[in-house]
Amino acid sequence: MILSDFFLLLFSLRKFQGIYIDMKNSYICPSCRSHLKVVSHITFSVITSGGKAGLLLLSPELGDYSVIYHDSLTIEEGEHVDFFCPVCHENLGAKSANPDFAEVILIDENGKEYRLVFSVIAGKKCTFKIAGNSILEAFGDDADEYFNFWGETPKY
Ligand SMILES: [Zn+2]
Repeated sequence: MILSDFFLLLFSLRKFQGIYIDMKNSYICPSCRSHLKVVSHITFSVITSGGKAGLLLLSPELGDYSVIYHDSLTIEEGEHVDFFCPVCHENLGAKSANPDFAEVILIDENGKEYRLVFSVIAGKKCTFKIAGNSILEAFGDDADEYFNFWGETPKY
């Protein structure tokens, strides 16, 4: 009995450690500063241009464009999707200079804050990590298409 408790404890410690390693980046709502990442995914509430609403999960790995959502939420390729903070319901695209983008705050493992700007057009793979007026990193196959816009007129 004691031995099995010990293994159970070891197992739960290993699980906790795995989650901890994954927590190196934090994703924060720019409006209410709530943490949007729960365990392994960044959580948003969304409304499509077709009027469908639901919860949508994104991978915290930059450049990974896998998306998780319930079957009841249908998203067409190329459709504009409004992203909202699930806590304060702020439209995360509201402050964006380009209506095709939304943004959250990324805090890295050293506590440094960046703006993470990402495409809200379904299927468009484009994410920019921004500090001040500079794009530090670009991710996604479609980033080149938008790079000049964000590179030349960064209005945040
Ligand atoms: Zn919020």
